[in-house]
Amino acid sequence: MKTYLLPCVCSADIPVGVGQAGGRVTCPACARDVDVPKLRLLGNLSAMAPVVQPVETRWGVAHGLTLCGVVLALLAIDQERVVSEEMVVVEVVVELDQAMLLML
Ligand SMILES: [Zn+2]
Repeated sequence: MKTYLLPCVCSADIPVGVGQAGGRVTCPACARDVDVPKLRLLGNLSAMAPVVQPVETRWGVAHGLTLCGVVLALLAIDQERVVSEEMVVVEVVVELDQAMLLML
């Protein structure tokens, strides 16, 4: 979406979108409420250079850490299952050994 720069009386430029046309925005610099021009006048404002956001940057550090946590949790769950399966196998082998001893 195209973003326009709405000049505030404090000389700050407030980025406004087309969806905010005819409404009011609060200046982030001075906290004044500034009227946003109607849609047809919005084009008179200088347009903000489109912010090119590569897809990679959306995948932030927080996402990476979350993924790491999930992967580690899955690995831990998998490890637990393997361990408990091994325990069952060991128990069965022990029981078989005892049964064999009893038969002898
Ligand atoms: Zn301002």
